[in-house]
Amino acid sequence: TTHLVWFRADLRLHDNLALAAACRNSNARVIGLFIATPEQWHAHTLAPRQAWFIREHLHALRDALAQRGIPLYTAQLDDFDACIPWISEFCDTHRVDALFYNYQYELNERKRDVALEKHLDGFVTCQGFDDSVLLAPGSVLTGGREMYKVFTPFSRAYLKKLAEGLPECVHAPKARPSAPCEAPPLAAFDYPVEAADEMLFPVGETAALAKLRQFCQQGAGEYDTRRDFPAIEGTSRVSPYLAIGVLSPRQCLHRLLAEQPKALEGGPGAVWLNELIWREFYKHLMTYHPALCRGKPFISWTENVAWDNDDKRFDAWCAGRTGYPIVDAAMLQMNRTGWMHNRLRMIVASFLVKDLLIDWRQGERYFIAQLIDGDLAANNGGWQWAASTGTDAAPYFRIFNPTTQGQKFDAQGAFIRRWLPALGKVPDKSLHDPWSWADKHGVTLDYPRPIVDHKQARVATLAAYEAARKS
Ligand code: FAD
Repeated sequence: TTHLVWFRADLRLHDNLALAAACRNSNARVIGLFIATPEQWHAHTLAPRQAWFIREHLHALRDALAQRGIPLYTAQLDDFDACIPWISEFCDTHRVDALFYNYQYELNERKRDVALEKHLDGFVTCQGFDDSVLLAPGSVLTGGREMYKVFTPFSRAYLKKLAEGLPECVHAPKARPSAPCEAPPLAAFDYPVEAADEMLFPVGETAALAKLRQFCQQGAGEYDTRRDFPAIEGTSRVSPYLAIGVLSPRQCLHRLLAEQPKALEGGPGAVWLNELIWREFYKHLMTYHPALCRGKPFISWTENVAWDNDDKRFDAWCAGRTGYPIVDAAMLQMNRTGWMHNRLRMIVASFLVKDLLIDWRQGERYFIAQLIDGDLAANNGGWQWAASTGTDAAPYFRIFNPTTQGQKFDAQGAFIRRWLPALGKVPDKSLHDPWSWADKHGVTLDYPRPIVDHKQARVATLAAYEAARKS
């Protein structure tokens, strides 16, 4: 009997539910498959850095699987539609009896899987697994069997459910009798790739697990007091690994509990656990409301906001040339490394939507095109939160002041100085409003003046939202 594991966003050997299930029968021949779909990636504006991260991890996975006697085949097809007949033929050629895969919850991905199962019905048994979440979407609902609209009660219900029984990790497969086998060559992918800094994001499951372990030992306990300051490494930075499935959320949970045993009861580490639950919240939400995958706001009246969508301003935001140092430094961090600190994601998203009055979907798209940790559910959730169009969003009249946000979360300007050397001579206390200082002292700065006045922008945005709400 032959078992096929179709790898997608689960590029790991350890704690991979589909892979473990495929390997359970020790007599089965197990083979793996990964299909790159460049046209689909273009349509989804996959970031070249994430494409690079995927490719590097495919190399690592291919070698690790071959060591265990599991050949990983790779192919390049245009898009998801093309996958269906191709896999069907692949199953024929390789005499596949059963297909194992881990669910993806995005709409196009779900449609593809439903179509494939239908196509294979009757000659290949298909089994899907809820692998990329701790609890399956649909398993944490309100008393009225609806998805929660607000995070806090969701989180409470979630923790209660977790306390009833933790989802366990599964082992990496043992070597098959055929081990080691030859690793098939990796297909070339016709998609731009850009290498990320491997000091920041080292490649491989071992490196990812070490990063997770180190954070849970040394950072998770103080996460609540350190997480908001972008100048320090107060967060785990495991998001790129979670996004493409080099790490699983179960590994995160169990490592956390091994190092911080009181995290489930609100002790040290609980705030970080809450972030993992945010991740689940947005995945559950997107599964329950597929319209979120089609660019729809959760709050429908926000569809009527008359966006300004000024191209020049949008370009200035993308390039980190808005004249607001915390915004610009943040955008440079993302443009140059593929990752941005969470506090900064909130600040720049708020700035785009509420200071420049640009449609949040433009920012959402730009983020995905840059981020090494791009994830549709988390990104959409974060943008809709910032734009006050989503579930549990900040109310529309709550507008971040980019200058005071900078003063609060980068008080000494250590983060800003790292990314904006042009502000080198500006004293710390003036760093968040450098032109007031420069004008007073007759200094010229090689740095743009603010492209909008925050106070005026705030008034205009409030008016635009109010008009939309009334219409
Ligand atoms: P930590 O603080 O160490 O948190 C641990 C893990 O929890 C993260 O790796 C992530 O998987 C999850 N997590 C943390 N915060 C959130 C959150 N608010 N929503 C969902 N999951 C969360 N996260 C992505 O993974 N991909 C995205 O494309 C993405 N886009 C975002 C866009 C905006 C506008 C905003 C405001 C947030 C976005 N986030 C996104 C959420 C968050 O900013 C990142 O997950 C976090 O900064 C990653 O760094 P970390 O691994 O050090 O996180």
